[in-house]
Amino acid sequence: MKKIPFLRPDLVKKEALLPYLSEIDASRIYSNFGPLNKRLEQRILNGYFDKSGDVTTVSNATIGLILAISQCKRPNGKYALMSSFTFAATPLAALWCGLEPYFVDIHSDNWCMNEELLSETIQKLGEQVAVVVPYATFGNNINLELYQQVHRSGIPVVIDAAASFGATDHKGHFGKEFPGYVVYSFHATKSFGIGEGGLIYSGNSEQISKIRQAENFGFSQNRDTDMLGLNGKMSEYTAAIALSTLEVYDKKMTTRQKIYSWYLEQLSQNDLMSKGWTLQKNEGEIPYQFMPIACPEGLKNIDIIDYLADRNIEARTYFSPPCHKHPHFINYPHTPLPVTEDLSKRILSLPLWEEMIIQDVHLIVEGLVSSQWH
Ligand SMILES: *Cc1c(COP(=O)(O)O)cnc(C)c1O
Repeated sequence: MKKIPFLRPDLVKKEALLPYLSEIDASRIYSNFGPLNKRLEQRILNGYFDKSGDVTTVSNATIGLILAISQCKRPNGKYALMSSFTFAATPLAALWCGLEPYFVDIHSDNWCMNEELLSETIQKLGEQVAVVVPYATFGNNINLELYQQVHRSGIPVVIDAAASFGATDHKGHFGKEFPGYVVYSFHATKSFGIGEGGLIYSGNSEQISKIRQAENFGFSQNRDTDMLGLNGKMSEYTAAIALSTLEVYDKKMTTRQKIYSWYLEQLSQNDLMSKGWTLQKNEGEIPYQFMPIACPEGLKNIDIIDYLADRNIEARTYFSPPCHKHPHFINYPHTPLPVTEDLSKRILSLPLWEEMIIQDVHLIVEGLVSSQWH
């Protein structure tokens, strides 16, 4: 039986890279914000953010989160507020910045941090809140209005937008004009996959200048270190991959959206939505990284994963266990987490990669249908 893998990243091929590699050979500049990095930042700022604010490339999004949190956290704060339904990189980044993660429950509809609960938690913790780190779950276009207010009130906000590069709604690209930091991942498994890499955006250009300094050993103009820095730069080779990926990214996103729509058709033809299967409520255009779906109450995601595996279909359970259940984060404080607990028993991440054909989706949905009776 044909195997359907969970992901099958398909990065740009060597032929597309060659012109850029020749440029590197000629310039003999390999890193330190070289010409390809600069061109990449310019193209992204112009093409995705309408030239408002600024961006900087980083070596990966985890380093990006560490850089962003460390540059803006309140000096006397203790906690980084975030959902537990996220990737381990979010709480890890807070810990590397000397903060403790404080997990807040999510909404049952969009699977992002519950904003009312966040406001209550901010009230309760007061000065102890160092930073808020919402995750735009699975590339969702979350409404940033409340976070903008929180940021303007003096509590810095860093958005973990790891899966969001390319996400748009009627206002434009996700994160555009946000006054805090927005961090995108270019890891191979993300839709804009280049291997390892990332990008930090801010609607406030000065904040990006601070990150550029911090990711280059904290060097000031005269190469004195006058702030806590590290090496978070992107190499010119990686920028070459990113530049050639930009040329095909619209096509990649369209392909991903087409596969997502096949799922929607098949799910509705099989009447699964009325049987308690639920999709994330989302808005705008999303560059789907994979296909998340929650199984009905009473079924367990891990049983369905095993059932699909027997049919040669590889699925995952992002993000189960949720962060507060990981051994390293188990002792950190949290609000009651009933929605996170419930969703983490039901969440499934189904295959979505660009060469999938409609028959693959058909087989997967058929697997879901029969798993219910198993
Ligand atoms: C992928 C991911 C990260 C980490 O990105 P890297 O570029 O691999 O460091 C952080 N947060 C979330 C939610 C992610 O999905």
